[in-house]
Amino acid sequence: MRLSQMLFVTLREDPAEAEIPSHKLLLRAGYMRRIASGVYAYLPLLWRVLNKVSAIVREEMNATGAQECLLPQLQPSELWKESGRWDTYTKAEGIMFSLIDRRDQEMGLGPTHEEVITAIARDMIRSYRQLPLNLYQIQTKFRDEIRARFGLMRGREFIMKDAYSFHADEDSLKATYRDMYTAYCNILRRCGLKYRAVDADSGAIGGSGSTEFMVLADAGEDEVLYTEDGKYAANVEKAISLPPDAVPSTFTTFEKLETPNTPTIQTLADFLKCSPTQIVKNVLYQVTYDNGHTVLVLVSIRGDQDVNDTKLQNELVKLASNYGANTVIALAVLDEAAQHKWAAQPLPLGYIAPDLSDSYIQAGVKDLEPKFLRLVDQTAVALQNFVTGSNESGYHTVGGNWGKDYALPKQVVDVREAQAGDRAVHDSSQILKTARGIEIGHIFQLGQKYSKAMGATYTAESGEAVPLWMGCYGVGVSRLAQAAVEQSYDKSGIIWPVAIAPYHAIVVVPNITDAEQMAAAEQLYADLNAAGVETLLDDRDERAGVKFKDSELVGIPFRIVTGRSLKNGKVEVVNRATGESQELPLEAVVTTLQQWIQTALEV
Ligand code: ATP
Ligand code: MG
Repeated sequence: MRLSQMLFVTLREDPAEAEIPSHKLLLRAGYMRRIASGVYAYLPLLWRVLNKVSAIVREEMNATGAQECLLPQLQPSELWKESGRWDTYTKAEGIMFSLIDRRDQEMGLGPTHEEVITAIARDMIRSYRQLPLNLYQIQTKFRDEIRARFGLMRGREFIMKDAYSFHADEDSLKATYRDMYTAYCNILRRCGLKYRAVDADSGAIGGSGSTEFMVLADAGEDEVLYTEDGKYAANVEKAISLPPDAVPSTFTTFEKLETPNTPTIQTLADFLKCSPTQIVKNVLYQVTYDNGHTVLVLVSIRGDQDVNDTKLQNELVKLASNYGANTVIALAVLDEAAQHKWAAQPLPLGYIAPDLSDSYIQAGVKDLEPKFLRLVDQTAVALQNFVTGSNESGYHTVGGNWGKDYALPKQVVDVREAQAGDRAVHDSSQILKTARGIEIGHIFQLGQKYSKAMGATYTAESGEAVPLWMGCYGVGVSRLAQAAVEQSYDKSGIIWPVAIAPYHAIVVVPNITDAEQMAAAEQLYADLNAAGVETLLDDRDERAGVKFKDSELVGIPFRIVTGRSLKNGKVEVVNRATGESQELPLEAVVTTLQQWIQTALEV
């Protein structure tokens, strides 16, 4: 491609709409344009990158035996009602765009495809002889994200590869899951990314085992905890660890003490000269279930520990049936507005005890549970002679014990957040470290959740109808492209990994009015492309400095300059990643570049 003929517009300044480097660079270098919040036009250079990522994904999927297909983006609400996700996706979480067509039918734009694929499996898979089966597609997904941001990282329209596998039993599912794990490692390695596979929470999609593939970068929205022995890595949402040992309490008798101005753990510990590990902290949450029912949740946890919202949410989902609900749609620490709405009298915030009376909850409020749901974290269960609130502002109790001074809540849970610095569970000499990650892929063992809900069964050898075992596997293709930039840039611009660069090389003509320069460049341009080296020709009527800057901004791996050394039959070749420059004889350019590219792709 000749730059003189291309839609090629670069910006000198960082666009105001962009916050992180990769987003700024992709806009500045003319890869994309924002059309609406979370909606981008992928311009020709970016489209080439996306196609290269897709090609790698496709090769690795095909290598596992998965088959490509293309499912509809426009999906009837009926299917989502069968799985029970229509209301949560369109109303509660509101992540799914929905519409009503001219025949008055409700439709949604696919944020994911479990429902569609399960309906197909239900129709087409009859016998165990057809199993296992793995289908995938590469396609635009729609999600009305609350926080669309960072360009392609969190779009409302984005490209995903999603695969769904069907099995006769769990062992077969696990075998495919392992193959997909390997395929995902191959994809990320081949795309030239530094990544980590981590244990993950399975979230709303459900199911048991799941692994996320995180590209390591400071701008990542996820936190990963890992150990240096390489044996443990998990998303903080899911991570487990050993809490520090509690310091034994110095209080021996149960009494109420005046503790003025001590609403936080730190002020209380300072005032009583005790360790935060001797305190039982009581945190109030409000959870709303999918049937509209709100429950106030009182979580008791050791003072030096924090509640992990994801773990708490998972516990609350398990308890949903107690409230006639299926799942949680909102969970938050009780805020002031909610307090005014729900509390019968002002709450003793900062001084709450595990036995806070249910009479604090207003009676007769529609959809409000009149009793607290009391949960206690394991870290608090183990404490003796502990310090905690007294339900009266300005006072705490000390020397408290479960079963004597406070009833131990029936629901003992593990909702504590693991943190960097904690000891690892698999080996207590290993200390958890933290890193930021961008979630690029997520693989799940779904089990029989969707097949049971939608009645997708196969006939086993015994003649019995068995719900299909399922797995699902996603890669954010467009997010991956931007993550590659986030991991690889410098002050001059993008540094694409060779495997996914839009072009391998760019021939820059410093002065297009110099016939010799132009002729050499044209020849190289033709020869390189003919030899499979994807090459751009910068034949624009611009100053050499502008062209050099643009080639660095756009991040093409190799730059060839038909400049001064042409007199000696040579051109300058610059490696974008290392900045190294060397002169090569004209006749050596094609083979040398072929070799360099070959080497870069053999990872
Ligand atoms: P996240 O936690 O980042 O919202 P998710 O758990 O919703 O991701 P999945 O439903 O597992 O993601 O989708 C599979 C992959 O699709 C993700 O690993 C990610 O790479 C990509 N992805 C998800 N949401 C978006 C989005 N809004 N924009 C771009 N890519 C996305
Ligand atoms: Mg999401």
